Amino acid sequence: MSYDTDNIFAKILRGEIPSEQVFQDDDTLVFMDIMPRVDGHCLVIPKTPCRNVLDASPAQLAAVMATVQRMSHTVMAAFGATGVTIQQFNETDGGQEVFHLHFHVLPRHAGQSMRPPG
Ligand code: C5P
Repeated sequence: MSYDTDNIFAKILRGEIPSEQVFQDDDTLVFMDIMPRVDGHCLVIPKTPCRNVLDASPAQLAAVMATVQRMSHTVMAAFGATGVTIQQFNETDGGQEVFHLHFHVLPRHAGQSMRPPG
C-alpha cells in the first residue's frame, strides 16, 4: 500500500488545515482529536510519511512510541486520569480511516465508557 500525500494528517503537517497542536519534537507531532471519545483524547503522528504500522520503520516506531509514552503521562496528569488507553488501527479492515500513522492516547477514569467514534 502506498502513502497518499494528500491525506488529512499530511495536510495538518504542512499547515494546510488547522489542528489543536499540543506537543512536537523533531520527529513527532501531537494534536487533539477533532472528535474526542474522552476528554483529553489526542493523536500522536510521525512528521515523516508513513501509512501505518505495517509501513513504519523501526526508527519511526521508536520515535512515535516515545512520544506516546510521554503524552500518556501528560494527559493523565492534565485530566486527573487513573489509566490510559492507547489505540491504533491499520488499513480499512483494521479500522483505519486516515492513512498516516497515528496512535490515539485516551486518558481514562474508573467506570468511564468511551464515546463512540464519529
Ligand atoms: O480510525 P482512525 O484512527 O484512522 O480515525 C481517524 C481519527 O482522526 C478519528 O479519531 C478522527 O476524529 C481524527 N481526525 C482528527 N482531525 C481531523 C480528521 C480526523 O482528529 N482533521
